[in-house]
Amino acid sequence: MLPDHPRGPELSRRTLLRGGVVLAGAAVLGAGPTGTAHAGSYSRIGTGGYAVPTTLRTGFTPYDGGSIGTHSGEWAFVYDDWFHLLCDSWLETYHSILRWQTAGAVGVWFVGCAGVTVDKPGSNHQTGNAFDATAIYHTDGGFVDCNYSHLGRAGVAANRRYAALAWSGRKHLPEVGIVGTGAAHANHVHLGRFKNGSTSLLLSHWGRSWDAWLVQYTCRAFLGVPIALDGDWGSQTEGWFLELLRRLGLAGRNPFGSVADLQQLAHLLTAYGVVGATP
Ligand SMILES: [Zn+2]
Repeated sequence: MLPDHPRGPELSRRTLLRGGVVLAGAAVLGAGPTGTAHAGSYSRIGTGGYAVPTTLRTGFTPYDGGSIGTHSGEWAFVYDDWFHLLCDSWLETYHSILRWQTAGAVGVWFVGCAGVTVDKPGSNHQTGNAFDATAIYHTDGGFVDCNYSHLGRAGVAANRRYAALAWSGRKHLPEVGIVGTGAAHANHVHLGRFKNGSTSLLLSHWGRSWDAWLVQYTCRAFLGVPIALDGDWGSQTEGWFLELLRRLGLAGRNPFGSVADLQQLAHLLTAYGVVGATP
C-alpha cells in the first residue's frame, strides 16, 4: 500500500503545532531543554488522546521460537520530567502519523520498554534521560519488535516500520542507538536526551556514529541497497544518503546543518515506514 499523504509544508505545519504544545509544558515545569528537572514516575507517554501505556519488557524470546517475548502490564518508569515531555512528543509523532496513514483506523496500543532510569555511569539512563524501546504494538495487532523487526527475515515492511520507530524518536531526541550500535543494544532501540553532552538534534557522523548506523540501515530498508552497516560515514553512505533525500523530495536539504531539515527527514521516514512503503 502506497501512502497518500501531504508533503512538504503541510508536514511542517503539523510539526510546528505539536512543538508549540511541548514548549508550553516547559514553562509550567520550569525546566528548559538544558535544565535538570526533578524526576517523576510515569506509566504513559504521549498526551491527551495520544497517551498510551508503557510496559516493562521482561523477556526476549526469539520470535522464530514461537514467542516474541514478554511485556508486563502497564508499568511506571521514573523519568527526568523534561525527558518525559520529549518522549511524549516522540510517541505523538509515531501515533499521529500511524493514525493518519491508516485513515484513522490504527493507533498505538502500548509501548514496550526495557528501562528508563538505570544505573549506567556516564549514560543518559543514570539521570532518567534515556528510554530503551523494545516494541510498539498497534491497535490492529501490528507491531514493531526491536528483537525481531530489524532482521532481514522479518521482511522489508517490518524493517521499514522498525526504522519508523527509530526516526520518530530521532525527530525529537539526538541520541538514537538502533540494534547493532553496541553490545548493549542487542534487542532494543536506545533513545537519549543528550548526544555527547549536547541537545542538538542535528545529524552527525564523526567517528563511528550511531546516526551513520541509522542512516545506513535506513538506506538498506527503504532503497534496498547493499550498504555496509558499520557506523562509518564514507562515500558509499554519503552517496546513498543523497539518493534517499532525493527520493523523499528533500534534495539540497541539509539535516547536518538544519534542525528543520533533520525533522522533516525524520517525519517523512516515519510516514513511509509505519506503512512499510518505499519513497
Ligand atoms: Zn539505553
